[in-house]
Amino acid sequence: MTGAPDQNYNVFSSQALIDVVGDVTDEALKASRMKQFIGVLGGRLMNWGQRKSLFPLHLGIKCCALEMAAAGGSRFDAERFGVFFRSTPRQCDVLIVNGPISKKFADPLVRLWEQMPEPKWCIAMGECAISGGPYYQSYNILEGVETIIPVDVYIPGCPPRPEALIDGFAKLRQKIMRIGTKPSTDRAGDAPIIVGDD
Ligand code: SF4
Repeated sequence: MTGAPDQNYNVFSSQALIDVVGDVTDEALKASRMKQFIGVLGGRLMNWGQRKSLFPLHLGIKCCALEMAAAGGSRFDAERFGVFFRSTPRQCDVLIVNGPISKKFADPLVRLWEQMPEPKWCIAMGECAISGGPYYQSYNILEGVETIIPVDVYIPGCPPRPEALIDGFAKLRQKIMRIGTKPSTDRAGDAPIIVGDD
């Protein structure tokens, strides 16, 4: 008997065939611009799917959180619009900051943000999250979440009503359709949206 006893020629041949077919298919797709077309179409489909299934983190900081809870309740029912609150950052793509951020809470909030997978978005809900609100220039409250996390949508009010939060999600959807599912670190030049500013 000749050759190495362990050599599996079937596996080797299958892999070689896959490599050759893969290369030929790749070249053919490139030559016909089909690859570009599939990329664009795939991107559009991803954006479409993403905007229809936003998973905000179930995080309540202060009184604005009650309005957020009302938005998820039976009267306003944010789930009608594909907004599903989840309780772990690893399953979420939207962070709603709904209260003042004390300097002690800044690090845990950034940790939650960093535990969320890309692409992800941040909504600043209420005056406290936007600028510190009644605690503006207080010794222990940050002057807005923007100082630690990039914000995509601002919802002014003290507190904003649940309809305003639902409107904020609608504006976020339009933004996702416009800029695509870019990671949050690539959106530096993109101006945030202010709900009620149109
Ligand atoms: S903006 Fe007003 S309602 Fe919202 S957390 Fe601050 S004080 Fe409370």
